[in-house]
Amino acid sequence: MADLPTSSGNDPSSGSNSRPDVIVVGGGIAGCLTAYLLAGRGASVTVLEAEAVGSHASGFAFGGLGPLEGSGIPDPLLDFSVWCFNRHVTLAAELQEATGIDTQFQFRDRLNLAFTPEEVARYRSDLEWQRQVAGFKVEWLEPAEAVRVEPRTNPACLGAAYCQGSGAVEAYRYNLAVAQAAEKQGATIRQRMVTGLLRQGERCRGVTLESGEIEAGAVVLAGGPWTGKMSDWCRWNLPVRPLKGQILRLQLPDNPMAASLNYAGSYAAAKPDGLTWAGTTEEEAGFDAEITQAGRDKVMADLLKMAPSLAEAELVQQTACLRPLTPDGMPVVGKVPGWDNLYLNSGGGRKGILWSTGQCQGLADLILEGRSAVPGLAALDLSRFGE
Ligand SMILES: Cc1cc2nc3c(=O)[nH]c(=O)nc-3n(C[C@H](O)[C@H](O)[C@H](O)COP(=O)(O)OP(=O)(O)OC[C@H]3O[C@@H](n4cnc5c(N)ncnc54)[C@H](O)[C@@H]3O)c2cc1C
Repeated sequence: MADLPTSSGNDPSSGSNSRPDVIVVGGGIAGCLTAYLLAGRGASVTVLEAEAVGSHASGFAFGGLGPLEGSGIPDPLLDFSVWCFNRHVTLAAELQEATGIDTQFQFRDRLNLAFTPEEVARYRSDLEWQRQVAGFKVEWLEPAEAVRVEPRTNPACLGAAYCQGSGAVEAYRYNLAVAQAAEKQGATIRQRMVTGLLRQGERCRGVTLESGEIEAGAVVLAGGPWTGKMSDWCRWNLPVRPLKGQILRLQLPDNPMAASLNYAGSYAAAKPDGLTWAGTTEEEAGFDAEITQAGRDKVMADLLKMAPSLAEAELVQQTACLRPLTPDGMPVVGKVPGWDNLYLNSGGGRKGILWSTGQCQGLADLILEGRSAVPGLAALDLSRFGE
């Protein structure tokens, strides 16, 4: 284990683990999974969460696990994303065994619909490299073939890239299972708002709270979209900002969808709760996480473009939450420059559930061993943004 000196803390209510090797700020998936992986390797860990585990994006995300598209894919994050996906497959079983919670991981086929010749050309071009990725089957479908896969597909589309082999989890169950598994490994989770860092030269001695402070051998900042606000604590720019997204949960009048439909960043898919979830928006709304009529209209418009017959679906619930987004859409994982033992794990953006496995394994490796074999991790270093 790397040098993680423990020291005394003075938050008397922080529980048995008041002098941890590592404090993790944030009880979303980035914080809880980091804690689970560190605790499983013998570190004493305390997670400090201002509200509740999974109370923000990690508890409300759609939970799609699609490693073949998104920011940084294929270059530089294809290997990283596939590694993350494969780790989800094993982690789901591991969590069920440890906690009894079924995270409802499922393999799920997806149709990426094209409506313009440019989209057809782009998807067909992507298929060239996607075909080389082991574990996934991708092919081009003409409109009638896409309708055969999922009968609600808009027959006016120009075709679809069909991907078999990606998947999904239930995000809240996943966050909860990870938190419980971390506690079973000895981690402590406390409801505390962290207000700053204790600094001594290049070392972070711990954190300050609204009342009191806790010392630790190392600190991980995993505050989701609030991570950017922690820049002042670090005297280093942590370029993470909120990007709001809204999702509709719908009751369909007939059978569940056979494959998820995707178009221009929006999607619709059947979920294990029996509903169809349709998303999403990308809104620069600061920290406002309220649902809106405009958000509902945007999601419905995209949904009806993909599947016009879903106009009959009944709206059951609308949710909104905030993604932690960096300027290039890729996570930031690693040491904060200028500090010996202050680390960052944030910026999962639209794929923070998928990428959580690689972000957290990579960070646990860096904290405990100073290096990691998770592929592509070097591309996530904070130094890519400069000071
Ligand atoms: C609509 C929507 C759909 C999504 N769909 C998908 C998807 O299909 N697939 C996918 O992979 N990803 C998806 N995502 C992205 C994913 O949800 C996020 O990237 C991921 O959950 C971020 O996890 P996190 O732990 O970094 O942040 P969060 O879940 O935001 O957790 C951060 C936690 O830190 C706490 N915190 C902040 N400041 C402090 C402080 N000072 N002290 C103590 N605690 C603090 C907060 O209370 C919060 O609980 C979606 C996101 C949205 C919004």
